[in-house]
Amino acid sequence: AATKVDENSDTAQALAYRHDAATVDHPAFVEGSNCANCLLYTDTGGDWGPCAVFPGQQVAAKGWCTAWVARS
Ligand code: SF4
Repeated sequence: AATKVDENSDTAQALAYRHDAATVDHPAFVEGSNCANCLLYTDTGGDWGPCAVFPGQQVAAKGWCTAWVARS
């Protein structure tokens, strides 16, 4: 399985990424948004999946970061 994103990595910190959107306190946070409903998330049906901004790693379906874009 792919490595899970480290919340403390430079990229994760730059994007304010958190494994649990419920813990996010950020002005850009949109209520109800999370990785599972983000355009950049490739849903694999599990609790973790690939994200375009974290190549080769996995983010949490219930995670969130400032690069979130609504899946249309
Ligand atoms: Fe989650 Fe989307 Fe941010 Fe990737 S870009 S970490 S899928 S919110």
